[in-house]
Amino acid sequence: METILKVRNVSKSFGGVEANKEVSLEIKSGDIVGLIGPNGSGKSTLFNMICGIQPIDKGEVIFEGKEISKYNVSEIARFGLLRTFQETKIYSKMTCLENMQISYKTPQDTLMSFFSKISQNVIKKSEELLDFVGLYEKRKLKAGDLSFGQQKLLELAMSLINGPKMLILDEPTAGINPTLINGIIDRLKKANEEFNITLFIIEHNMQVIMGLAKKIYCMNHGKILAQGTPEEIKNNKNVINAYLGAV
Ligand code: ADP
Ligand code: MG
Repeated sequence: METILKVRNVSKSFGGVEANKEVSLEIKSGDIVGLIGPNGSGKSTLFNMICGIQPIDKGEVIFEGKEISKYNVSEIARFGLLRTFQETKIYSKMTCLENMQISYKTPQDTLMSFFSKISQNVIKKSEELLDFVGLYEKRKLKAGDLSFGQQKLLELAMSLINGPKMLILDEPTAGINPTLINGIIDRLKKANEEFNITLFIIEHNMQVIMGLAKKIYCMNHGKILAQGTPEEIKNNKNVINAYLGAV
């Protein structure tokens, strides 16, 4: 498998707090990788730097062989690396289908791009993706009338419309009713399998991440504490001491 994302010696401080200290990791194309660790260990900061929300103090992020640290969130999204759920904002007064069309990005925002959003191709693609997340029947309903879990599924469909190569997800199941968690997880798995989208996921629910990820990184105090298969991580003494013992 080819490497899709490489993080090399990335550091970030907020005042005196060293949120990330020389973090390095590597993700293979088509993989599902988890990131765990105690609260405040630097997970979200790492994701923010990868997707361009926060500037990096030191180090570099390489996506498909390209150094992306100097680009902003929307430029990085256009390269195919997207942080989902945070960046995809739904418009509650618009229908599901309209939300999908709005998410469709053209190379430039011009009058022509407005017409391309309403083209038959984009409508067809939108309907297919709504079907993929199980919302085809609800395509003409206002997004605000969906349940919270259904809105999450809509957001997932919206982040898929531009054909991302990699999604990074910061606690995708947080705040979701336990009965809907499986729905989200199933669709993420399917997006990985059917569209070959690489997934990098911060997740507190150990059952979820152990069942989903092929490889897991554990952070502690701004550093990578351990990496390995779910089985290796579950049995790693340092991980148990720093994190799993407290879960
Ligand atoms: P995690 O996602 O693992 O819970 P974070 O990356 O959110 O951890 O936070 C790591 C550390 O950086 C914490 O001590 C947190 O308080 C601090 N931190 C994160 N973001 C900011 C910020 N924007 N300003 C100041 N401190 C921050
Ligand atoms: Mg966090």
